[in-house]
Amino acid sequence: MLQLQHISKVYHTGDQEFHALKDISIRFRENEFVSILGQSGSGKTTLLNIIGGLDQYTSGDLLIQGKSTKQFKDRDWDSYRNHTIGFIFQSYNLIGHQTALSNVEIAMTLSGVSKAERKKRAIEVLERVGLKDHLYKKPSQMSGGQMQRIAIARALVNDPKVVLADEPTGALDSETSVQIMNLLKDIAKERLVIMVTHNPELAQKYSTRIVQVLDGNILSDSNPCEPTEETKQVDIQFTKTKMSFITALVLSFNNLLTKKGRTLLTAFAGSIGIIGIALILALSNGVSDYVKKVQEDTLVSLPLTISEQNQSNLLATSPDLSEKPYKDNHELGINTVLTNLLKKQIGKNDLASFKTYLEEHASKVESLTKDIRYRYNLQPFIYASDTSNGPKSILPSTLADEVETANQTMKGYLQNLNYWSELSSDSSMLESKYDVLEGRFPQDKSELVLIVDENNQISDLLLYSLRFKDPSELNDTKKLDELSSQTYQYSDFIGKTFKAVVNTNRFVKENNLWLNKIDNASYMKTQIENGLQLKIVGVLRQKDGTSSGVNTPSGGIAYTSALIDYTSEYIQNSDIVKEQEANQNLNVFTGKDFAKDPKPFSSENLTEEEKIQLAKMTPEEQAQYVQQYNDNSASTYEENLAKMGVINKSKPAAIELYTSSFQQKQDLKEFINAYNTAKKEAGEDDKVLAYSDDIQSIMSSITTLVGVVTTVLVGFVAISLIVSSIMISIITYISVLERTKEIGILRAMGASKKDIRRIFTAETAIEGLISGVLGITITFLATFPINAIVAKMTNVGNVAQLPIEVALILIGISIVLTMLAGLIPSRIAAKKDPVESLRSE
Ligand code: ADP
Ligand code: MG
Repeated sequence: MLQLQHISKVYHTGDQEFHALKDISIRFRENEFVSILGQSGSGKTTLLNIIGGLDQYTSGDLLIQGKSTKQFKDRDWDSYRNHTIGFIFQSYNLIGHQTALSNVEIAMTLSGVSKAERKKRAIEVLERVGLKDHLYKKPSQMSGGQMQRIAIARALVNDPKVVLADEPTGALDSETSVQIMNLLKDIAKERLVIMVTHNPELAQKYSTRIVQVLDGNILSDSNPCEPTEETKQVDIQFTKTKMSFITALVLSFNNLLTKKGRTLLTAFAGSIGIIGIALILALSNGVSDYVKKVQEDTLVSLPLTISEQNQSNLLATSPDLSEKPYKDNHELGINTVLTNLLKKQIGKNDLASFKTYLEEHASKVESLTKDIRYRYNLQPFIYASDTSNGPKSILPSTLADEVETANQTMKGYLQNLNYWSELSSDSSMLESKYDVLEGRFPQDKSELVLIVDENNQISDLLLYSLRFKDPSELNDTKKLDELSSQTYQYSDFIGKTFKAVVNTNRFVKENNLWLNKIDNASYMKTQIENGLQLKIVGVLRQKDGTSSGVNTPSGGIAYTSALIDYTSEYIQNSDIVKEQEANQNLNVFTGKDFAKDPKPFSSENLTEEEKIQLAKMTPEEQAQYVQQYNDNSASTYEENLAKMGVINKSKPAAIELYTSSFQQKQDLKEFINAYNTAKKEAGEDDKVLAYSDDIQSIMSSITTLVGVVTTVLVGFVAISLIVSSIMISIITYISVLERTKEIGILRAMGASKKDIRRIFTAETAIEGLISGVLGITITFLATFPINAIVAKMTNVGNVAQLPIEVALILIGISIVLTMLAGLIPSRIAAKKDPVESLRSE
């Protein structure tokens, strides 16, 4: 079945040629036990390797089943070795890190036998060679004879047509040699066995044919196979061999297990880059989260506010609605502040139109805002509960009138005192903005809270304004100095009561005209006594980071929106409002029609009767009369209603638009700008809104900064990844060197170059996986102390959080990188000459 025709083999060493085989022609039968005898160096091994397809002949031809092998490709030789040939070596050539059983199974993994079948067949052959009880021993735990039996079992397991044995007993004692020879003789009953030996006695005793070789020539042949001799046709398979990736993984995994220490060290070194990147990403993720949270907290107290009265920002945002063509033109444009001023009522925003617009675009607006609050110009009148010294108005504060001071600055402060504000009715917003120090949030219209600043402080002015202290002390510098050393308890405030007087209750109808009795102490005293009692039920403190709001003075009292609703409804139902609404042309305060064309006071406009009356008055009275005249004549129906405190729901005094991120705020601004542009285009310049957003997006630039820093750091750390990849590459190369023999063994069994590559790819994949998992685990563990330290130092918790998807991606990157690093070493491995690999130790 095998025939060598004029085979010669030339080795090149340097420029020297060495003819190891010289024109060898020989035929083998399907079934015989051939011994090749010859001195050392005579070319026996070379001949055997060429027969086995492990080495390539230089010239001539090897016929298999009469078929020439001249055109054979690598793949054909791999398949030939795997299916047709079984090799047995003098030095056994077992894979040291695999058990006896796995050593035998490997040959079958290449031919694609199922796992169960593999094990069954491997156990069968191992039983046949007498190793039934040693299945799970590793070669190092066995004797030479036992190892050779494993090798024989391995050679037989694929049921090859040809078994090639290169001095199988060369390393064995004579007794063991006999056993092995008997085994081979037995095997030769069913197939062709070609055995190289330099022991003529064994050859004589066991083999059926002896071929003597000398210096690359056949010297003699005891039983030549003539061409005429009828040879039985044996079918030879040429199915492709292929090692599955799983087999490669198992093989490499077992190999790595034999070098745990080194594997772990390598993985650790490889994981450093991953740890670096993972830590940076964890920190950047945590910091971004923190920035986002701060953003939200900040924006809770920083809504985008568009007020009806909006003088402050004429310059800032008379929004330039025209396209901005100048930016890129190296020209200066002109922001037409004056034109805008002229076209528009100064500092007035038409919020009624905008409110309608918001309501018409409700769904869009909902996506742009977290909350919208409409503010109306309605404040309750609040008085001190104690009226024994006359009515003391707290809101609006009358401190400025009561205190005589030459200090103009203080006077100015006192005039503008407003420590009262309306509390949001949104409980989640309240909770995100305030800490409850004592008591609770207000729950109905009669409840108030004291709000203190971040430092648990309230201002001295508040104390005087609330009449906790006698305002007369405001003149007394010594008393004021003492304040700095005083403190208050929460309980000093909780339970404290005030009285609210509804706006319209100030007016009384006398002689068919409504009079404002606010300056009438006894009247007001009654009203206060009958007024709604308000009580402080809680002390709140603004949360850190939320009080960067500009509008909040340090400390103050807040009432509920329920109080405003109550007041508003009460006003709406009051007689004066009903009367005014019923007579829209008549001014209920003066009993006269509203002037169509209001004119300032002039004696010409007076009736005779009025002129006489005026003449009787003292100069002061006259001045007051003129003042009143002007007030009343200039009044309109709307202004009268406003004076009474009637609010027009469709005409808010301010609109507060709350957003949850600066991005959202930016989008919201674009939405408003689009509104403005549309109004401008429609020629309705008076509807264009002016607003200012003083807090420029500092936070959003911080987010950007975090992003940039992260990118730069990741870039730096990526370098360490490259370094660790190179290291893994070197270590894989060392592994290739160490496993050279294994490569030779596998090649001898029919493993293709690709299979070898796959084994090392598998090895690097495992290394990469271990590196990645190790890196992520270390990072994860490191986040705990990092978070603890940072929390201790800055009160910011969880700055380092590694998102699970980032962790998985990093493990993936680690695997891919190490596999890339292993590419070159595994190519080197695949290219190794199998014969040389087998020779290596
Ligand atoms: P043996 O009969 O001892 O098995 P070999 O077949 O191993 O002999 O070697 C035959 C001759 O070929 C020896 O002289 C050896 O030095 C030479 N030889 C074998 N392999 C190589 C090689 N790769 N390069 C050069 N010379 C080689
Ligand atoms: Mg030899």
